Amino acid sequence: LFVETPLGAGAAVRIDGGQAHYLLSVMRVKAGDPVKLFDGASGEWLAVAEQVGKRDLTLAVTEQLRAPEQVPDLWLVAAPLKKGRIDWLAEKACELGVARLVLVETRRTVVDRVNLDRLRAHMIEAAEQCGRTAVPALDPLRKLPALRRDWPADRQLFFADETGGPAALDTMRAHAGPAAILIGPEGGFDAEERDAIRAIPAAHGISLGPRILRADTAAAAAVSLWMAAAGD
Ligand code: SAM
Repeated sequence: LFVETPLGAGAAVRIDGGQAHYLLSVMRVKAGDPVKLFDGASGEWLAVAEQVGKRDLTLAVTEQLRAPEQVPDLWLVAAPLKKGRIDWLAEKACELGVARLVLVETRRTVVDRVNLDRLRAHMIEAAEQCGRTAVPALDPLRKLPALRRDWPADRQLFFADETGGPAALDTMRAHAGPAAILIGPEGGFDAEERDAIRAIPAAHGISLGPRILRADTAAAAAVSLWMAAAGD
């Protein structure tokens, strides 16, 4: 279970709301029962249920079960998509091991507002489901020119280009180290944007094959290939 309270041996964590409902009514937790917790930064901890009420409970943290996760150094930079698709993308990014999700507004981006709380909730749920103890960082929406201008020179940028390019896996294998994958919006990047992205010194165009994938599919495919190339 994910909690915002920083965890450590001896910490007391009060749980209420939906999480208390889940523990009390779904998991039927009783006083003395063990519950596994993570706070996104300090690994996984064992806690014991104490003071179990009808709508809330307090957990006493006893010991660390897992050290903080070694997160592969991969960011996913993606244009926001319509509601269901961006939720899916955030969930899969977390499951596949991404360290950070960066949202970028491009000329053909049709979604100009993103509910970051909702996306973070999806990533937390995905982390709980897949056994991650770190939840990916989530950056608010930025415009493409600003992202390009500030792009860190030491981070490879694999730009998924549906108009063609070298095979993704070979390119990723040839450029190891901290990386990011850039995925365009439903309408793709326009020609000027593509040229501007290619001009970033750390950028490498990649193809994900001859078919035009939906942006969310392209993101999951590219992240999986990077993980395979990095051995993560
Ligand atoms: N119209 C569809 C949709 O609704 O999602 C397709 C969108 S495709 C243009 C969106 C992005 O996915 C592209 O900008 C690119 O980053 C990536 N993409 C899709 N197919 C790709 C391919 N075969 N190779 C590389 N990137 C691809």
